[in-house]
Amino acid sequence: QAKAAGRNNVRWFHRSMLDETNDRVSLTSALRQALAAGELSLDYQPQVDLATGEVTGFEALARWHSAEHGAVGPDRFIPVAEDSGMIVPLGGWVLRQACRDMVEIQRALGRPFHLAVNVSPRQVHSSGWLDEIVDALKSSGLDASQLELEITEGILMDERWGVTGILQAIRDLGVKIVIDDFGRGYSSLAYLTRFPIDKLKIDRSFVHDLGGEDPQAPIVDAIIVMAHALGLTVVAEGVESPRQITYLRQRDCDEAQGYYFSPGVSADEVLRTVRRVETR
Ligand code: C2E
Ligand code: MG
Ligand code: MG
Ligand code: MG
Repeated sequence: QAKAAGRNNVRWFHRSMLDETNDRVSLTSALRQALAAGELSLDYQPQVDLATGEVTGFEALARWHSAEHGAVGPDRFIPVAEDSGMIVPLGGWVLRQACRDMVEIQRALGRPFHLAVNVSPRQVHSSGWLDEIVDALKSSGLDASQLELEITEGILMDERWGVTGILQAIRDLGVKIVIDDFGRGYSSLAYLTRFPIDKLKIDRSFVHDLGGEDPQAPIVDAIIVMAHALGLTVVAEGVESPRQITYLRQRDCDEAQGYYFSPGVSADEVLRTVRRVETR
C-alpha cells in the first residue's frame, strides 16, 4: 500500500514539474508574440501626497491579456520575461509607452505628475538602457525630473555589476531612483549612502497591519525617520485602510499608494480616478 502511494507521489511530483515546465515554455513563446500582437498594456496606480491628499504621481504596471492564456499577471510573466531575456524589449516598450501616456494624462489634467516605472536587473545591465531612457524622454517630451525608476535592493547588492556608474548617469539626466519593496530583501543599510537614491518605497508586508497592534510598526517608524535624515522621500505601498493612512500621516510618511485610493487603472480612467481620489 505504502509503496503504491509512494510511487503515486513520485508520479504526481513529476507530473506537476512537467506541467510547470510546459507552462513556462508556452508562456515564453506566447510572450514573444505578445508585444507585436498588442496584447500588453499598462495600468496606472495613483500615488497620493499624504499631507495634501493630492495625487502626485502614478506607477505604471504591466498587464498582459493573452489570446491563448487569458489574463496573465505580472508576477507570472515578468519572471518569464526575465529568464528569457525578453524583459529588455518588454521593459523598453513599457518605458516608452508610459512616458507617452503620462504626457497625454498631464495634458488632459492640466498639471504635472511623476511617473514611476519598474525596472528589472537585466535591464539595468543591458548596454542600451541609458539610451533608451534618453530616447523615451525625448520622443515623449516628458521632463526627466518627472520620471522615477523603481529598482529592487537586489540590484544594489550585486557588486559585480558596477551599478553605481549606471545609476549615477541616469541620475545626471535628472531621473530619480526609487528602491521598491524596501525592507523585504537583503537590507544592507550601507548602500543607502553608497548609491545615488532619491526615494524609498516601504514594502507592503510592513504596511499591512499598521494602525492596530502591529509589532512591525517600529520598523516603519524607523524607516521613515532614517529616510528623511538621509534626505530621501518615503512612499508606503499596499495601503488598504484608513487606519493605515492615519498612522502613516502621523509619522510624516510623504506618500502612499494602494487599493484604499485606487488599484491600477487604464490611461482612459485616470482622469476620473484622480477626481474620485481627491474628493473623497
Ligand atoms: P510592485 O512594483 O511592488 O507593484 C505593486 C504591486 O502591488 C502591483 O501588483 C499592484 O497592483 C499591487 N498593489 C497595489 N496596491 C495594493 C494594495 O493596496 N494591496 C495589495 N495587496 N496589492 C496592491 P502587480 O500589478 O500585480 O505587479 C506585481 C509586480 O510585477 C510589481 O510589484 C513589479 O515588481 C512587477 N511589475 C509590474 N509591471 C512591471 C514592469 O513593467 N516591469 C517590471 N520589470 N516589473 C513589473
Ligand atoms: Mg514597483
Ligand atoms: Mg513595490
Ligand atoms: Mg512590494
